[in-house]
Amino acid sequence: MSFTVALIQGDGIGPEIVSKSKTILAKLNELYSLPINYIEVEAGDRALARYGDALPKESLKVIDKADMILKGPVGESAVDVVVKLRLMYDMYANLRPAKSLPNVESKYANVDILVVRENTEDLYKGFEYVASEGVAIGMKVITWKASVRIAQVALNESLKRKKKVTCVHKSNVMRITDGLFAEACRSVLKGKVDYSEMYVDAAAANLVRNPSMFDVIVTENVYGDILSDEAGQIAGSLGISPSANIGDNKALFEPVHGAAFDIAGKNIANPTAFLLSVAMMLDRMYDLSKEEKYIRAANALRNAIYKVYQEKKSLTPDVGGNSTTDDIVSVISQYLS
Ligand code: ATP
Ligand code: MG
Repeated sequence: MSFTVALIQGDGIGPEIVSKSKTILAKLNELYSLPINYIEVEAGDRALARYGDALPKESLKVIDKADMILKGPVGESAVDVVVKLRLMYDMYANLRPAKSLPNVESKYANVDILVVRENTEDLYKGFEYVASEGVAIGMKVITWKASVRIAQVALNESLKRKKKVTCVHKSNVMRITDGLFAEACRSVLKGKVDYSEMYVDAAAANLVRNPSMFDVIVTENVYGDILSDEAGQIAGSLGISPSANIGDNKALFEPVHGAAFDIAGKNIANPTAFLLSVAMMLDRMYDLSKEEKYIRAANALRNAIYKVYQEKKSLTPDVGGNSTTDDIVSVISQYLS
């Protein structure tokens, strides 16, 4: 099975991270005979400045035909790009792994959690209005269909891991909405994996108390937004966290960090989060094709990254080193095999 990927460089540190990482994308294609065709498209602040549209029609044409989207961080117009794409292609699952890397300072060792966040409904649906002066109302939308399909994603992911899922909600207070979400998760997950439920306040506390009690967390949009940032920070740094937005027909992979204009063009940006997002993209290609070469490439890339962190000597300043983006990219590339 072959794949077409629309590649968006993004803004700030995006273009340097993405363009320098291209040697790694090419090497993976070559080493593992991957039929992945990358097509570059413009989107973000620079596209907005040039065409008056953060997501120009020409780009959308390519994206529409592509199987996946791989993007660097986008600046101010990030919402116009990612939120729009997420809605257009119903990318309903947001996957955020939080995993420690060697030599990245953190209060916790060996954090390895995957937050599976429902991405389309809940309070973020945007149904808000002013009921009367000084009274604003927002509506929480939870559907059985969306809850079941996110639970299904959590099940699939957990089967590749420790087969342990914690469903996070607050059904003691929001009996109807969160009650429905919990019931849907139970119907999909109970009996198939080590399944438990936790109220969101307890989950937030437990994450900082003892992160090792979690493996996969499945939760609603708002709780997932907050808990995934918390988990990422516990693992060491948001700056090294990758993410995936997955739908049935399209998926988008991107680093969690922003455009970081303060360090753009200085050749010191850390490409780790972007490259770990590439590994997640390869995982997805394996899921869809069941062809071993994709998972082998994903693991090779992750192993090369871990090795560089273990050795410590080629790290960028944000993680305590004094190497350049070029340095770390070339060492990771060298370690691919
Ligand atoms: P946003 O507007 O989305 O918050 P941002 O540009 O503020 O985007 P953040 O992800 O919030 O970016 O990052 C905050 C700071 O962390 C950046 O200004 C930068 O100094 C540093 N940083 C973020 N990502 C990286 C990276 N990949 N490499 C090195 N430093 C980074
Ligand atoms: Mg910021």
